[in-house]
Amino acid sequence: MKIVAATTNKGKIREFQEILGELGYQVVSMHDEGIDVEVEETGSTFSENALIKARAVALLCDSPVIADDSGLCVDAMDGAPGIYSARFAGEDATDYDRNVKLLETLEGEENRKAQYVAAIAYISPDGVEITTEGTIEGEILTEEHGTGGFGYDPLFWCTEIKKCFGEATPDEKNAVSHRGRALKKLCEILKEEN
Ligand code: IMP
Repeated sequence: MKIVAATTNKGKIREFQEILGELGYQVVSMHDEGIDVEVEETGSTFSENALIKARAVALLCDSPVIADDSGLCVDAMDGAPGIYSARFAGEDATDYDRNVKLLETLEGEENRKAQYVAAIAYISPDGVEITTEGTIEGEILTEEHGTGGFGYDPLFWCTEIKKCFGEATPDEKNAVSHRGRALKKLCEILKEEN
């Protein structure tokens, strides 16, 4: 069955396909369906924002829809940048700008604990809504390592695989990632329902 992803990010669509493909879904992007919506993320949690994105697309198609929202939560920053991770250094900032700002904010800070969080929202054609969350624990390094992954990955030391995500292979990261975990939880729920 076709499932429409409320994103145009090819990396996310590939991850969705890898996991949902096992249940027989074919993941297509909203652009493939001729859908182009700009959604304002006005929620106060990752799950609310994922649902806002999924609902906007579900209104415009008859297929199941999936959306995600994710970010980095740093303990010493009371969970920031959290849902504001993409906008942490301003609207037009690059990954590099955000990483520089993160390092500056944490300068001299001994507690470097952090976690990535991802929420997935799914809406069935008859309007049933499911949300799931996944997390992965880590620590913020004092300088960038590697060029793998994206976003904050060169600064994220993953305590579970004992490697910086910037130096991990895609398979190593996907096996434990917040997004992968949230997706696997969704799969379990969908399996039970079918
Ligand atoms: P969104 O989920 O597309 O709204 O993006 C959230 C932001 O959180 C991204 O722009 C990244 O800055 C950050 N982020 C979320 N997941 C990851 C990840 O797996 N690696 C690195 N950064 C991430």
